[in-house]
Amino acid sequence: MQELSHWIDGKAVNGASGRFADVFNPATGEVQARVPLAAAAEVTAAVASAAAAQPAWGATNPQRRARVLMEFVRLLNRDMNKLAEVLSSEHGKTLPDARGDIQRGLEVIEFCIGAPHLLKGEYTDNAGPGIDIYSMRQPLGVVAAIMPFNFPAMMPLWHVGPALACGNAVVLKPSERDPSVPLMLAELLVEAGLPAGVFQVVNGDKEAVDTLLDSEIIQGVSFVGSTAIAQYIYSRATASGKRAQCFGGAKNHLIVMPDADMDQAADALVGSGFGAAGERCMAVSVAVPVGNDTADRLIEKLVPRIEKLKVGPYTAGEDVDFGPVVTREAKERILGLIQSGVDQGAKLVVDNRDFRLQGYEDGFFVGPHLFDHVTPEMDIYRTEIFGPVLSTVRAGSYEEALKLAMDHEYGNGTAIFTRDGDTARDFANRINIGMVGVNVPIPVPLAYHTFGGWKKSVFGDLNQHGPDSFRFYTRTKTVTARWPSGLKEGGEFHFKAMD
Ligand code: NAD
Repeated sequence: MQELSHWIDGKAVNGASGRFADVFNPATGEVQARVPLAAAAEVTAAVASAAAAQPAWGATNPQRRARVLMEFVRLLNRDMNKLAEVLSSEHGKTLPDARGDIQRGLEVIEFCIGAPHLLKGEYTDNAGPGIDIYSMRQPLGVVAAIMPFNFPAMMPLWHVGPALACGNAVVLKPSERDPSVPLMLAELLVEAGLPAGVFQVVNGDKEAVDTLLDSEIIQGVSFVGSTAIAQYIYSRATASGKRAQCFGGAKNHLIVMPDADMDQAADALVGSGFGAAGERCMAVSVAVPVGNDTADRLIEKLVPRIEKLKVGPYTAGEDVDFGPVVTREAKERILGLIQSGVDQGAKLVVDNRDFRLQGYEDGFFVGPHLFDHVTPEMDIYRTEIFGPVLSTVRAGSYEEALKLAMDHEYGNGTAIFTRDGDTARDFANRINIGMVGVNVPIPVPLAYHTFGGWKKSVFGDLNQHGPDSFRFYTRTKTVTARWPSGLKEGGEFHFKAMD
């Protein structure tokens, strides 16, 4: 059995606590590795050595830091297939989807190569007699990133990239479900030239997380995961004066107007509802057709598409639409919610409750499910299912559809499918949700914009990646300077690099 490690001071370090968690291959249900769960003392030591490494990294000029990230991008591309294979084996998603996971993370690292430009400060010449004022962005120091299982490459990269580019040292606590890719990223960062100690990976559970939250050295905490934990992390981190951004769960609605291209809407719903087995915070889990006729036409288009979906292990190659869910508990939870939908009166139009994959009977596979006539009081509507389950809530009018999405406690993403620019524009303006798609089902902004929801999908003020991440990972310092006289030195005639 493979025993995973932590990554401390530029090398793999075995766990010392004696506590481990099993890492499964979700396709087979077998335990393929065990990951150490750090004790508080191990976390404290990792944080202390990050603190020792940070000042030199923070003082390294931003262009040199960016060059490390530039090389990191090359290495990520070089090892893309190897990373994707490991990612799929622990998460269960298909290989093309695993490559997408790495690619969307890598794009944020590409954005961070522009750090020298993004970190430029402000300057006011002659703010008063002989007085200049300038503002600079300085790193926070040591920051922690506590990450979820569902994007084991992308989520860490979204945080580690900007944090390092800004001159911070980072302690990453990956999900204990799929910790191997984060460890591989650490190795690649060292190969790219990152000094030892600037990036630490501490594997663990609540004990490790709470130690990070209570550390007096950690200055900033980024969290991505479920809403209950996000809220907990935010309050505990901010209670000790840390800067925190905590991203939580979602329930994303896709509104289908009567004038929408119904084939396009159905394709969009199937891809965004069932891709990655629905284990995406931007998965569409609620279809809202406006009008009964629209609903009937939509269901008619959806059913054959869903029935055709191929569920299988990542090893089956490109011919699989989605894989298993992450754990046996997740599978049971999802099946329990499906049953609650039936019990509470929703109509299960595509029913795969008895889905079994031959040869993979112990895998955590859940077949695709489609509900119609779901109502807002039902558990399947209120809860983030995080599985391959699409619920249809029929709305009588556009205003009713809009209100439905607005009244839901989550506000991560949403979309509207229509040919009418006026409706689309009204929707984008009025909806209280952070990311909006117009005829685009999963509106994940690219790296140079920012990613973040509203309402219970976020605790904190600044979004992930893009310019917001540079604000989050830096503090502004403003200097007001008066120089009564200056030293006049002789000229410098050599063209020098800024070393
Ligand atoms: P999770 O909340 O179970 O775990 C996230 C992290 O928190 C893990 O590192 C875990 O070890 C740690 N953790 C879990 N319980 C803890 C506790 N009691 N105390 C301290 N730390 C704890 O989430 P998950 O199942 O890994 O990820 C899925 C969730 O993440 C979904 O709700 C999904 O919507 C959300 N998500 C949100 C975004 C976003 O940007 N909003 C992106 C991806 C995933």
